[in-house]
Amino acid sequence: MERARGTMTVIDETDDVLPDSQTAKVFYSKYEPKEVLGRGVSSTVRRCVDKETGTEYAVKIIDISEADHGSDIKESTHREVEVLRMVQGHPYVIELHDVFESATHIFLVFELLRQGELFDYLTTVVTLSEKKTKHIMKQLFEALLHVHDKSVVHRDVKPENILLDDNLDIKLTDFGFARILRPGEELYDLVGTPGYLAPELLRANMIETAPGYRFEVDTWACGVVMYTLLVGCPPFWHRKQMVMLRNIMEGKFTFGSPEWDDVTDAPKDLISRLLTVDPARRITVREALQHPFFHRVTARERPFSGRRMFKLAINSVRAAVRIQRLKYTPEALSVSVAIMDPYRIKALRKVIDACAFRVYGHWVKKAEGQNRAMLFENLPKTDLRRAAPVLVTS
Ligand code: ADP
Ligand code: MG
Repeated sequence: MERARGTMTVIDETDDVLPDSQTAKVFYSKYEPKEVLGRGVSSTVRRCVDKETGTEYAVKIIDISEADHGSDIKESTHREVEVLRMVQGHPYVIELHDVFESATHIFLVFELLRQGELFDYLTTVVTLSEKKTKHIMKQLFEALLHVHDKSVVHRDVKPENILLDDNLDIKLTDFGFARILRPGEELYDLVGTPGYLAPELLRANMIETAPGYRFEVDTWACGVVMYTLLVGCPPFWHRKQMVMLRNIMEGKFTFGSPEWDDVTDAPKDLISRLLTVDPARRITVREALQHPFFHRVTARERPFSGRRMFKLAINSVRAAVRIQRLKYTPEALSVSVAIMDPYRIKALRKVIDACAFRVYGHWVKKAEGQNRAMLFENLPKTDLRRAAPVLVTS
């Protein structure tokens, strides 16, 4: 619950009390904190408003006061800020606007992404079309191309860390696990989110002699993201985490039926190249952007063709006529048929049915409608006894 007192906001959430320190005061004097947008292990992200300009931002408040891990968190947040500053200036990377630090908390003020996480968007829509997936993945690869060019490996690429604006344009965020890689340097630490971990990262942790990992772990995670966007479920998920990790290490995933039946070959091919176990053989971010999935002209995007449009129009008219004939054109009413066999004519059949149900409704079995015709047949040799099975005596 929030309650305004002058220009300051007091927040009445015991587990969520904003820090009261010198720098926090400076932060408060500049910004008005609002509702919580998201939470992490040791951080809370809130919407906030610049009191002078009225511009909205998102502030990530990191608690560095914890006795056990406080200094670790402080160090990793400093690294996060260092990395964020290195990767600034790209349209698909989150913009860091301001930084405050006190003995107990660090405040990172970011541009606000009103639509929130790609994860939440996916939860709402369940799956994305190939066109929308193409739009998002292209931007994600462009963001990563920029990040990798700055020698930064993100290490936590997933839909929760991809934010959306009103046009469904993305901003890659959360550089909390990111590292700057020196030429030839390899990493060994186990960081990231289980379902998105690359096989070489797992191997670097499980096998003594295995080499370390580099930028390619982000490309693998892109494969997991892309698979998930298209069908709404991740490629390696298993309720037993050990099985999932084994599947990742073996690159064991399928384009199962029926969820993949309607997906074309190009995205499947790109996913297979991203989810290639050997990082040396895995498609690179730059190559991914050149993949036919991004350049193939789909039916909806083909340039205008008069001939094709004309054919389409003819076919549409034909289909419309057929549908009209099927559904709405009334049957020709023949007097002789109406006299001899009224039940053959749909319009009369309805009238007869309505009357029959009024008179015989209590003893005509509803489920055997087609046999009701026999009741009203006006043929020379109608044997009413044969109609007996449809009758039930009450
Ligand atoms: P953590 O390291 O704790 O995961 P994140 O930077 O990922 O922190 O932020 C946590 C969550 O807060 C995000 O997943 C998102 O829901 C929300 N969030 C973070 N930054 C923004 C922003 N700039 N605009 C809107 N929501 C944000
Ligand atoms: Mg996060």
